[in-house]
Amino acid sequence: MEKFEGKSILKGVAIGKIHYYSKGEQVVQRVSVEDTGAELQRFEAAKEKALEQLHELYEKALREVGEVNAAIFDVHAMMLEDDDFNDSIRNAIESQKVNAEYAVATTGDNFARMFEEMDDEYFQARSADIKDISERVVSVLHGAGAKNALGDEPVILAAKDLAPSETVQMDKSKLLGFVTEFGSSNSHTAILARTMNIPALIGIPVDESLEGRTAIIDGVTAALILDPDEETLKLYQEKKQEEERQRELLQELKGKEDVTLDGKHIRLYANIGSVGDTAKVLANDADGIGLFRSEFLYLEKSDYPTEEEQFQAYKTVAQNMAGKKVIIRTLDIGADKQVDYFNLDHEENPAMGYRAIRICLDREDIFRTQLRAILRASAYGNIGIMYPMIISVDEVKKCKEILAQVREELANQGIPVGDVEQGVMIETPAAVMISDLLAGEVDFFSIGTNDLTQYTLAIDRQNAKLDSIYDSHHPAVLRMIRMVVENSHKCGCWVGICGELGADTTLTVDFLRMGIDELSVTPASVLPIRKIIRESVAGEN
Ligand code: PEP
Ligand code: MG
Repeated sequence: MEKFEGKSILKGVAIGKIHYYSKGEQVVQRVSVEDTGAELQRFEAAKEKALEQLHELYEKALREVGEVNAAIFDVHAMMLEDDDFNDSIRNAIESQKVNAEYAVATTGDNFARMFEEMDDEYFQARSADIKDISERVVSVLHGAGAKNALGDEPVILAAKDLAPSETVQMDKSKLLGFVTEFGSSNSHTAILARTMNIPALIGIPVDESLEGRTAIIDGVTAALILDPDEETLKLYQEKKQEEERQRELLQELKGKEDVTLDGKHIRLYANIGSVGDTAKVLANDADGIGLFRSEFLYLEKSDYPTEEEQFQAYKTVAQNMAGKKVIIRTLDIGADKQVDYFNLDHEENPAMGYRAIRICLDREDIFRTQLRAILRASAYGNIGIMYPMIISVDEVKKCKEILAQVREELANQGIPVGDVEQGVMIETPAAVMISDLLAGEVDFFSIGTNDLTQYTLAIDRQNAKLDSIYDSHHPAVLRMIRMVVENSHKCGCWVGICGELGADTTLTVDFLRMGIDELSVTPASVLPIRKIIRESVAGEN
């Protein structure tokens, strides 16, 4: 039996076998395949996708650095379409019966070596280009890799690190828990673990030797126990049963109102990242959805989701919630949520960079597609829209203007649209300080305490080293929340918290006393918070 201590993301127990997941190994792993036709199709689709990426990179480089510098992407596209290169990959798949990733990677290596050995300097330099394009195709293929990382039996997943785009693609029913070496407790991967209600630890040394070993995640003491002895296993099985009993006790609160002892009704909503999470919202009897992180629809795909795809997703959630509020946050990518096909530049400070509403107002075509999909879905339920990372009144006015134009466009096409409340996320100190002005523009505020803490304390929420001082209880953060509540109420705007702090039961009573109207939390936190609301007094505020 071995024990490691890390940091806990969710205070639960998981028991099961470990599956070691590694991006790098997946890429070069040789897997025998029966259905070579399917592998050939995977290769062709990945190649098409890589060609599109190269075309976009060419256009972008043309705008930004001129034709001469952009030409390299055209050269890459030509190399990728080279007959010898393609025949060699197809031949490897068919004759060796191997997976597309392996065929592309080995062909890339062979061609690169061949170029390297040539006398001509020009051709020698092409060696790096060949490697580059084969890596591009492999990484497109890898997009489906995370999806297929889990087998038939549920496992505890162990990885060096997990990107939100990988986590979101995994089949949650096959995940008992996960353990990573890197990552911070405030990252989106951690948030996903909490939404999925999956015990998770970070800061645990992870390598392939963990594969197949029996393990216990103890989220309370933040420990990973490997190869537990009989006695330890029994102890944790009992703990798990006790967790189950507590969960069942809370079930009695289902169907009960979220009203304080002195009669204030609180909107107790839940956060989701995918259509599938709606089932958890309903199972935990939340009043609505206070934050649908729509960017995960983009993260789980290898190309821009179409208007129709988005419409179907939003409509399904709206219909499943049957008239209860569903607040869709518009695309919030950038920082730790990187989407390959957006081809965003590398930035020194991505958290303070080109992200969220900044991208949407710059690339209006993407924004308009999303708004059309949301407005179309609003005819099927009770939808609200909120805009992330707002720092100015002008941004809000621009968003409202675009929404009004999109609404008119749909009306002209005879497409039905419902009433939609508009709100902004208050997650920058700038938004807090002008919340009196913003309140006049919108119907509601939703305080994003995850980013608000990061920007107020000047602590990168991704930096695991700073986890211990990333303190959402800091008086600066709590004073800001109070200020936002006061400013919003002066204008008749309702206000909630959708950051992780909203689920912190040690603060629920404080929030109620401040006058918070809404708390939007991970589905599993709904009933514990309902219990506190029903036992508390909100008072005059
Ligand atoms: C927040 O910043 O608090 C928030 C809810 O948004 P996200 O965590 O997705 O950045
Ligand atoms: Mg945020």
